[in-house]
Amino acid sequence: MRKIKNQEVNSKICVICKKRNAVLYLKASGENICYRCLTRRIERRIFRILKKRIKENSIIIGFRNTSTIVLLHILAKRFKEIEMRKIYMLTDDEILKWVKKRYGFKEVSSKFLEKDRKPFLIIPFSLEEFSATLLNSIMKLNLKHFLISNRAIFPLSKFENKQLEAYAAYYKLPIIPLEEKNSYNEFFCKMEEKTPTIRYQFLSFVNSIKNLTNDHNEIL
Ligand SMILES: [Zn+2]
Repeated sequence: MRKIKNQEVNSKICVICKKRNAVLYLKASGENICYRCLTRRIERRIFRILKKRIKENSIIIGFRNTSTIVLLHILAKRFKEIEMRKIYMLTDDEILKWVKKRYGFKEVSSKFLEKDRKPFLIIPFSLEEFSATLLNSIMKLNLKHFLISNRAIFPLSKFENKQLEAYAAYYKLPIIPLEEKNSYNEFFCKMEEKTPTIRYQFLSFVNSIKNLTNDHNEIL
């Protein structure tokens, strides 16, 4: 039995369905996974996160990245309520505009982001984008924006960019290469050579700090 199992891993069969060829190796869990199981997992997790948190005053922030495209696809597929489909575009990128139109998202102006409207922000960042942004905020002591606010979520931040690109490829969606020039991202890339799961560890560390500070009257 043990011998057969080892052969399966060597030939890279998906550990979930145990049928199809794996296309990605997931560092965090050590799993080899196929397109179909990966896309199902991404959709299920994001749907679960958003189902609990999405509200009528939710606004998606549109970036020039693959995460935004993947998020719009999942929302259009799994949430039928049209009032959920509001996006504030931070870019006038042509691909994004096309995706927005294809899935029937309504573009809102910056006045929807005003505090008195209490918008709930859905921010599409991959693991790489989220960890680099978070580190940047910490270095600049700009934590209030990202940590303390209960009015924003990052539903894609547990997925590496390559997982989201695989999702996009599976559904024939456009892929926008990750901007790697920023120095915070480069820092993580270097750290990953020795500690492949450093970004996950960093996020979980920040999360623990966040809980600690929330327990202590938001000292940050
Ligand atoms: Zn599979």
